[in-house]
Amino acid sequence: MSKLNQQTCPCKSAKTYHQCCFPLHQKTVKPVTCEQLMRARFSAFVYQLGDYLYATYHPDYRGDLSIKVLSEKTVDWKNLQIISTASFSDSGYVEFKAWCLDQGKLFCHHERSNFVKENNDWLYCDGVIYPEQKSGKIARNEPCPCGSGKKHKKCCAK
Ligand SMILES: [Zn+2]
Ligand SMILES: [Zn+2]
Repeated sequence: MSKLNQQTCPCKSAKTYHQCCFPLHQKTVKPVTCEQLMRARFSAFVYQLGDYLYATYHPDYRGDLSIKVLSEKTVDWKNLQIISTASFSDSGYVEFKAWCLDQGKLFCHHERSNFVKENNDWLYCDGVIYPEQKSGKIARNEPCPCGSGKKHKKCCAK
């Protein structure tokens, strides 16, 4: 087992990567819910698995995005919080907050993503993106949303 596999999964499930998103990335296991796909896609962004992001992006929605573009590192993804989710027989949604560091500043990507299930595969379609929450609005004594476990003022607010 590689070192990567023993790490806590980037999707913040509290499981190891090996027990969580790894089998989905290897396609040995299919996500049962769209939340599982959402988590696996977040982890794929962290590990820059462009092929997985491409394969799980509905062809009608991904436009001219390529595996190469999807493999590029844009920001440093830190934390994922699932706000609400529901999976139905052939569609579902996940509202989430994904926190990233961009040039040393903490940003929140707050989105409600839509998924469909086709041929027993969940696929990401599109999402509504809520206004960006800047790090300045986070209470300084609250736990830092980056998931470090420290108070915000002692972490990304520094
Ligand atoms: Zn995971
Ligand atoms: Zn932080």
